[in-house]
Amino acid sequence: MADTPKKVKERKLTDYKYPIPDPDPYTSGPFWEGAKEGKLMLPRCEDCNRAHWYPRIICPFCYSRSISWFEASGEGTLYTFAVQQRAFAPGWSEEGPYVTCYIDLNEGDRMFGVLLGGADIEPWDLFKKIGSKCKIEFVKANDDVHVPFWRLAE
Ligand SMILES: [Zn+2]
Repeated sequence: MADTPKKVKERKLTDYKYPIPDPDPYTSGPFWEGAKEGKLMLPRCEDCNRAHWYPRIICPFCYSRSISWFEASGEGTLYTFAVQQRAFAPGWSEEGPYVTCYIDLNEGDRMFGVLLGGADIEPWDLFKKIGSKCKIEFVKANDDVHVPFWRLAE
């Protein structure tokens, strides 16, 4: 008999114990600088004017090398999700279940992340949240790295 899925808990990450990204200042420096101030910085192509995620030195839409950065709203909508019952990455292995998600950013393109919840919720009830507003939240991993997470806005 399969395990009954546990509720997905509301999470407040004050003690960061998860893998810490190793920022590459050449491709994503402005993102990490913004993250330290709680701002979502996105790259935008100066030729076709489209924002993209993840950061690249070449526009994925028109292949231009004219990329600049701007402060985005830090908001989007839940495109899809997966409930992770088990995990192997350090820190996450004791956390199940937790939710990974794709967020449609208000400025365009889609960002992968971990959804911290909004309230305790049954995993299957998250289907009702597809299209719901989400807001980014940065959690301090160390003095140089603040990691983005997502939270349901309501
Ligand atoms: Zn472009």
